[in-house]
Amino acid sequence: MLIDTHAHLNAPQFDEDRHEVIARARDNGISRIVNIGFNRETIPSSLALAEQYDFIYSTVGWHPTEAKDMREEDLAWIESLCRHEKVVAIGEIGLDYHWDTSPKDVQNRVFREQIRLARRVGLPIAIHNRDAHQDVVQTLREEKAAEVGGVMHCYSGSWETAKMCLDMNFYISFGGPVTFKNAKQPKEVLEKVPMDRLLIETDAPYLTPHPYRGKRNESAYVRLVAETAAEIKGISIEQLAEATTRNAMELFRLK
Ligand SMILES: [Zn+2]
Ligand SMILES: [Zn+2]
Repeated sequence: MLIDTHAHLNAPQFDEDRHEVIARARDNGISRIVNIGFNRETIPSSLALAEQYDFIYSTVGWHPTEAKDMREEDLAWIESLCRHEKVVAIGEIGLDYHWDTSPKDVQNRVFREQIRLARRVGLPIAIHNRDAHQDVVQTLREEKAAEVGGVMHCYSGSWETAKMCLDMNFYISFGGPVTFKNAKQPKEVLEKVPMDRLLIETDAPYLTPHPYRGKRNESAYVRLVAETAAEIKGISIEQLAEATTRNAMELFRLK
């Protein structure tokens, strides 16, 4: 049994066959899915999915690429939703210097406000980090994110940065990119991450693993990430599944 710790199954890419995609995940031994709500539209649709399926959970948060659109009332709204029984984390939040669709200072303020929110409500944080490793780590440290911990979703940084995140009680999660043949750094980092801090995810419909790269991603493919991770760790897929499932259950306090 595996857990997909980061998916966007409420995305329009699944409008035609969402139920089949979710059924296929179950058929492939995916026992639970953490779906991501990250703005005014995706938070309600993610929660609706979590209400419809007992094995789907949801995060609530505001994505850094849309930071400039977040109003004060949105933050209060997100905070009120933390009481929802299927909400398991604040996210995905963080910094994205790749797309650069919101000014860096605005991204940073919105990120800080949500780390404080996570500490107020006592929920772990799901971090989105694109080309912003140093600032993400510094902000997590300054805002005492270690108090709640969380997960570095689809981690793509160095081992040095990963170590700093581990020190702040964060788990390191790997997705499709670790299966790519040229993914030297993610494979090296995965090898070093302690087994009790490792998570796997799809980020479906994005970041599809080998050999389906370029096609739409779905939760069933988290198995391909698990196979690669087991190979890198030199353990069986069963051992890998057991450890990552236990980690996800602990972090998100799943039943
Ligand atoms: Zn992300
Ligand atoms: Zn995502």
